[in-house]
Amino acid sequence: MNREASRALFAEALGLMPGGVNSPVRAFRAVGGQPFFVRRAHGARLTDVDGNTFIDYVCTWGPNILGHAHPSILRAVSERLPDGLSFGACHPLEIEMAKTIRAFVPSMEKLRMCNSGTEAAMSCVRLARGFTGRDRIVKFEGCYHGHGDSLLVTAGSGALTFGRPDSAGVPVALAALTISLPFNDREAVRAAFRESGREIAAVILEPIPANAGLYLPEAGWLEFLRETASAHGALLIFDEVMSGFRVAPGGAQQISGVPPDLTALGKVIGGGLPVGAFGGRAEIMDHLAPLGPVYQAGTLSGNPIALAAGLANLRGLIAPPDGTPDPYAHMERLGAALETGLREAARRAKRPCCVQRAGSMFCAYFREGPVRNLADAKLSDTAAFGRWFAEMLARGINLAPSQFEAGFLCAAHTEADIEATLRAADKAFRAL
Ligand SMILES: *Cc1c(COP(=O)(O)O)cnc(C)c1O
Repeated sequence: MNREASRALFAEALGLMPGGVNSPVRAFRAVGGQPFFVRRAHGARLTDVDGNTFIDYVCTWGPNILGHAHPSILRAVSERLPDGLSFGACHPLEIEMAKTIRAFVPSMEKLRMCNSGTEAAMSCVRLARGFTGRDRIVKFEGCYHGHGDSLLVTAGSGALTFGRPDSAGVPVALAALTISLPFNDREAVRAAFRESGREIAAVILEPIPANAGLYLPEAGWLEFLRETASAHGALLIFDEVMSGFRVAPGGAQQISGVPPDLTALGKVIGGGLPVGAFGGRAEIMDHLAPLGPVYQAGTLSGNPIALAAGLANLRGLIAPPDGTPDPYAHMERLGAALETGLREAARRAKRPCCVQRAGSMFCAYFREGPVRNLADAKLSDTAAFGRWFAEMLARGINLAPSQFEAGFLCAAHTEADIEATLRAADKAFRAL
């Protein structure tokens, strides 16, 4: 596989951008080697600047659920372009987007658009603090909520109630207000609420954590968090930036039947353009400016081009054109085949591997399962994963370049793609 053009661009990028990238995971540090530069992407295929083509399981980290450059999204965007790129004023697509989201995520009685998942999650936390008049928040290890200060916090050593910054530059005093607990661990949550229940503004989580590989909420876990938060006057925030409109149109809250007080969305609702949204009970949302005292704003929030792309993406999911299969059923079928096939390929090569999946999201952890939280995930053989990743890439399969990221299917993947992927996986496992 020729990689010359990518190598040359990366050498140049290193002098221009920290690590050569605009978002850290793209740098391939977790797997070794060098990133490729993309020339174009269509459907489930990505072509790099050297002309190599890959079956893509990153799908922009989630948004491109119909496939890259989907004709209906391109059409929606190009139809809007002549009318102006941005107004910084009200326009009708905002109404359409709000109605579309609320129809599928009814817990979002009122919502506000923003430009990224980071903003959505950060705004939920500020709003929860402003609404409850409390400062502490509870989050879970391995759940990613973007790079807002209060959320880049990891478990502090020993002391249950004090988180420590997960990034330089996050003030220790702020991190101390975040309590970071193991996912699926009820006793840890009970203890935190026993100790600081009256100070906790909110519990925030990915109801299906997909940012440390992929693990699942155990039976009763989401219900338990709902009850515990309510009993203590704290809000429950579901960060469905990844799971929203992906695991089901109504996200993990539709599947579990557990309604949060606030929800953060992003990724799929933008169809590949920068969009985020947050919303929830009207009584809480009305604490936002201009009605209430919690400030939140955005020059490009509700941008018409981004909303046109996002709405076209959502329509393709919830109202697929006649004659096309339901995208969720299609991805579930392919996901099941991929899950089973990867597990069997690993077993044939006698490689410990735990494949976990939620619909179109999956992760192959290089260890025996099950993986139920970050501590379990961290025991994976990341060196072996790195070699497997490189073997897969060399065979034309683009996976997320880290053991601690999920893979994504899109509606454009085909059975033939899965078969080709499993043939590559078989060889890649044997080559380790
Ligand atoms: C991607 C992601 C974010 C951050 O979204 P950005 O658009 O990258 O800022 C937040 N939460 C979850 C669950 C995500 O997957």
